[in-house]
Amino acid sequence: MANEGSQRAIATGSTAIPHWYDPDGDVPTIVEGEDATVYDDEGTAYLDFQAQLYCCNAGHSNDVIVEAMTGQAERIPYVSSAKHNDARSALARRLGEIAPGSLSDVLFAVSGSEANELACGIARRVQDAPKVLTRWQSYHGGTYGAGSLTGDPNTRATLERHAATTGAGKFLPPLPECFDADSPEELAEQAADHVEFVIRNEGPDSVAAVLMEPVGGTSGAYPAPPGYFERLREICDEHDVLLVADEVITGFGRCGEWFGVDTEGIRPDLLTFAKGVTSAYVPLAGVVLDDRIGETIRAEEFDLGQTFAGHPVACAAGLAAIGEYEDGLIGNANAVGPHLESRLRELEDRYEEVRTVRGRGLLWSVVFADPVTGEPFHDSFAGDEGENPVAAVRSAAQERGALFGGGRPDDQVIVSPPLCVTESEIDEAVDALAAGVEATFG
Ligand code: PLP
Repeated sequence: MANEGSQRAIATGSTAIPHWYDPDGDVPTIVEGEDATVYDDEGTAYLDFQAQLYCCNAGHSNDVIVEAMTGQAERIPYVSSAKHNDARSALARRLGEIAPGSLSDVLFAVSGSEANELACGIARRVQDAPKVLTRWQSYHGGTYGAGSLTGDPNTRATLERHAATTGAGKFLPPLPECFDADSPEELAEQAADHVEFVIRNEGPDSVAAVLMEPVGGTSGAYPAPPGYFERLREICDEHDVLLVADEVITGFGRCGEWFGVDTEGIRPDLLTFAKGVTSAYVPLAGVVLDDRIGETIRAEEFDLGQTFAGHPVACAAGLAAIGEYEDGLIGNANAVGPHLESRLRELEDRYEEVRTVRGRGLLWSVVFADPVTGEPFHDSFAGDEGENPVAAVRSAAQERGALFGGGRPDDQVIVSPPLCVTESEIDEAVDALAAGVEATFG
């Protein structure tokens, strides 16, 4: 291929992001895709069990979405974000219909990071309070503000070296290793009480919002124990603190319903989205607001916007993607999700290096630990420079034709195929992962 050399140079350059995802430097150059499969520049096929960055929910090269984008580009590609546009208005209406309860007002952004910053700005404005609390072991974005919200130490450490982060408060995630609970119910109670403690300690009047992923995403696909979110909703109401759901990964069918909060049966005050809204075919993000907050913001003439927020081509893609999710993809996610779970649980039973398997719908994490010490092999929290066999497991699976994600911390393999995935593709990819575990640990 004529430009192979330059592509490789870019892909392996010292500033290239793929370097972070693949320490072995064997990042493929992806040039084509169809449904759940992508192809590299040498024609090698890979099952994309990361949906790239947990975002190509409708699979690759979906004709309906591509045609909607082309049609919009032919009519009028761009309309100022200060004007109305039919695709933008239609998507805003549609998002209001699929979002839970009284969440129906929409403000658009471009990326998930910006959507979270926008949500924080709105929360701080309507609550007249400065603080937003988030979890340790969370990811909310890598820009100046969203990086502060992120509780993953790798991202924070990177940001702190070049841009001071603002002091967003943090609390512990509802993970068994963070508390001393004998049952999931007890864990839910202890973890929720802890959030209340942090709110009280910060001073409830100073806390505008608690922001979290309904199911932890890149930080480990961990669902909350039963009852956690209900109690959290009560705590937020008791202290007049807004609850913001970051649905950047969990939205648009990833966990088996439109949104992650639907799988928990709770209603947030604000919901942020990005990635899957267009199946990542073009950037689009935003915030869905509870009507009450929407009214306040409208009355106050919240006069902030971005040039590319709600780009018409992206909105056309969003409308088409939502149609695809509704016309069968969410149904398929629910049909094949249990098969994925049971195949992954086999790994938990078979390999002593697999500490746990957790997740929901089509978002799963296979967490590894040293069977002797019970500790992660490579403690990225501590900045240990040692070999990390979990990265080797991913590389070995890739050599066998399946791409998986790395988590933060990097003690896990994140599994998140497009919603169009089939049971036989699941078998093939999990077999590749199992072979990767065997090749790595013997
Ligand atoms: N929120 C969550 C839960 C994410 O996983 C991400 C990105 O992975 C973001 C926010 C940031 O989104 P973006 O990369 O579009 O800025």
